[in-house]
Amino acid sequence: MVSVREALDCVLQQMPRLGGEQVPLSRACGRALAEVVTARHEVPPFRNAAMDGYAVRAADVAQASSARPVRLRVLETVGAGGVPRHAVVRGTATRIMTGALMPNGADAVVRVEDTAAGAGSEVEVRAAAGPGTNVRLPGEDVRAGEAVLHAGRLLRPADIGLLASVGATMVRVACRPRVAIITTGDELVDVGQPLGPGQIVNSNAYTLAAAVEEAGGEPIVVGIVRDQPDAIRNAFREACRADLVLSTGGVSVGSFDYVRQMLSELGYQERFWKVAQKPGKPLTFGFCAGTPVFGLPGNPVSSLVCFYLYVVPALRTMMGLDRRFLPSVTATMAEAVPKAIGLTEFVRCRVTGPPERYEVRSTGSQSSGVLRSLSLGDGLIVGPAEVGILEEGRRVRVVLLGSDAGAAEAPF
Ligand code: AMP
Ligand code: MG
Repeated sequence: MVSVREALDCVLQQMPRLGGEQVPLSRACGRALAEVVTARHEVPPFRNAAMDGYAVRAADVAQASSARPVRLRVLETVGAGGVPRHAVVRGTATRIMTGALMPNGADAVVRVEDTAAGAGSEVEVRAAAGPGTNVRLPGEDVRAGEAVLHAGRLLRPADIGLLASVGATMVRVACRPRVAIITTGDELVDVGQPLGPGQIVNSNAYTLAAAVEEAGGEPIVVGIVRDQPDAIRNAFREACRADLVLSTGGVSVGSFDYVRQMLSELGYQERFWKVAQKPGKPLTFGFCAGTPVFGLPGNPVSSLVCFYLYVVPALRTMMGLDRRFLPSVTATMAEAVPKAIGLTEFVRCRVTGPPERYEVRSTGSQSSGVLRSLSLGDGLIVGPAEVGILEEGRRVRVVLLGSDAGAAEAPF
């Protein structure tokens, strides 16, 4: 039996890296960037107005105030996308809108709020503006050739916009790992089918397919495989063509638990079996025909907890992401929770309170079969192996599950 730490280190060290593919920018959100992107051109690409107002020569308005306004003759009006036809010379101004190309000769923009209409085509400037005021310079945000994003980044909407603004039409991202999902068990039927005596719904196939999608992979659900040696062997042989194989069930010490035996007949190189943890103790990890395989326990909670703890970092490593782990926070136990001594226990919990004072409570039954208590929870308390109880008031580490875990239901 290995410790949680040893198991995780083993997985991370041995996970292969996938190749990349070019995708259009519009398909790149949520993907792992697999190249350094440099700016094709400057941002902004030209000198432009940062405010609606008047483009002026700063020297002309250096003495302007509301008591002593300066009168300038307005040459033209330029909107965003327009091109000025006249240069601003002494005693003149151009009415200009935010984002519009600055006319030659002008070196400042006076806000429209600091002006008043003058007689005829004149404007009265009522405030001074130094050189450069309210003017955005070319390359101020990004210089041409500058690296804007690095490989390993999980692309978010702001990144996509940034990439567009520097002229990237296609980007190289890591291929999505194709993950085969085998669910073993004579008791399993697909959802929607009538349940005979002794039968249950194959929920793991749905749980894991959803979890793979969420983690950026592409699930390939192999479906239900009966607890028969040939069926299991064949299923794994096929599944090993994927980038990663997940199976559930049949890895414990039951009379019909054939997974490890069949894997070994296929040349499985087991790296570990059994982790000192709860839930998920019978987890096995290794390589079959060069493909990483996680034999997850069958219990619905065990398989999903193992997915979060080991498979998420494995998939992120495969995609070259620079953040491999789920976020975790420190919190205070709001109630005592007994735990198994000698095993690292991951307790399904709810996180409440503001981040400076997070509190956690168990979501109820911690039996590995009770998926409800994982659905109700938004985190996993990491209960250290050496203790037999997590006392009230104890400070604990909590792995957050889901992007809004621990967030207050309130604006901002
Ligand atoms: P096993 O690891 O095969 O001994 O299964 C442990 C427990 O998990 C048993 O109660 C199984 O019925 C249940 N189980 C196994 N596979 C699944 C599955 N795909 N969906 C839901 N429950 C399962
Ligand atoms: Mg089974």
